[in-house]
Amino acid sequence: MDKSTIEKIRSEFPILNEKIYNKSLIYFDNGATTQKPQCVLDRINYGYEHLNANIHRGVHFLSQLATEAHENARKAVCDFLGATKREEIVFTRGTTEAINLVAFSFGEAFCNEGDEVVISVMEHHSNIVPWQMLCERKKMKLRVIPMNEKGVLDLDAYKKLLNERTRIVSVTHVSNVLGTVNPVKEIIEIAHAQNIPVLIDGAQAVPHIQVNVKELDADFYAFSGHKIYAPTGIGVLYGKEKWLNAIPPYQGGGEMIATVTFEKTTYNELPFKFEAGTPDYIGSTALAEALRYVQEIGIENIAAYEHELTEYVTKRLLEIENMRIIGQAEDKSAVVSFLVGNIHPYDVGMLLDRLGIAVRTGHHCAQPLSDSLEIPGTVRTSFSFYNTKDEIDVFIEALKRVIGMLS
Ligand code: PMP
Repeated sequence: MDKSTIEKIRSEFPILNEKIYNKSLIYFDNGATTQKPQCVLDRINYGYEHLNANIHRGVHFLSQLATEAHENARKAVCDFLGATKREEIVFTRGTTEAINLVAFSFGEAFCNEGDEVVISVMEHHSNIVPWQMLCERKKMKLRVIPMNEKGVLDLDAYKKLLNERTRIVSVTHVSNVLGTVNPVKEIIEIAHAQNIPVLIDGAQAVPHIQVNVKELDADFYAFSGHKIYAPTGIGVLYGKEKWLNAIPPYQGGGEMIATVTFEKTTYNELPFKFEAGTPDYIGSTALAEALRYVQEIGIENIAAYEHELTEYVTKRLLEIENMRIIGQAEDKSAVVSFLVGNIHPYDVGMLLDRLGIAVRTGHHCAQPLSDSLEIPGTVRTSFSFYNTKDEIDVFIEALKRVIGMLS
């Protein structure tokens, strides 16, 4: 994407004009959450101004309009993920809720004492803790795929972890710390050869690379709206129809029922069986708008441009003495984590902030990964298509200053 395209895109994000301590904001914390374009902000307002009424079963005009918008949003997500059926798209609060749903419901239906769940060493806490809770509840074992020093999963070790007690594999598509793009298609194929289903945590993947759940043959795929330019509080679980039909509801309440008596309740059809309570229909429609926006720019264009940015920042970071890039996989997405000498990442982050630069520091909700690397965490830069090489240059100069102050 050329400079004028990026400038036009930047002008569509009002927050990029904010001043932080009187400096222009440089926002390199897109892995945590992305900023919102005007069209998404407008869609939220439009929803409340023109079609706000609780959805499903409402006979009145506004309710029907809101229902239609919400269900159209489901269709947009379905198309975006390359899924074939709207019924396979469940709206959740985000990736975390989607994984908790599967860990609970799949666990109830298919897991017993002595069974095993396989995850990887580079998982976010939201793809560790729900499985640990399941393991505790059902007296099961959590098995962990290791990685090599570059941050690449060890697939031979993975194959050896699978056995007749493995009930499910759950791994991240892209690591939020290392940037590693995992070979999830291969991971899925290996598990499927033993009839084991696979959940993919797509939180860090969908904003940056083309995802097609059918091509991947994923059994479950989760992502968060707020990491792909949509509001907080809306996310998605894709699940193959056969699995969603085979597992029980996650939460009880309105929307998810067919009939209720005090003696017995029957459950609604897919996907409503998993959507108890009033859904975030404003969030879902804003998510659909965000997906439209991203598709208009083009995921391929986004991936290519962000790749340029990450290559550039890596090259510039390596100009700095005692620089250690954490995560050196060949296939990386828009995340670059680093450490400088013995300087604590927190100090770097604090001082960069005073210069208007937002980066994330710490273990990034992947504490076991930091432990396995024996590091206190990292400084993490994570990029969006609205970032520029000029911003990277300003960041590198600021970082050099900060290192000078801390050395
Ligand atoms: N998985 C990964 C890889 C993530 O990066 C994140 C967010 N940092 C999550 C899951 C959790 O997403 P959310 O908090 O939106 O549920």
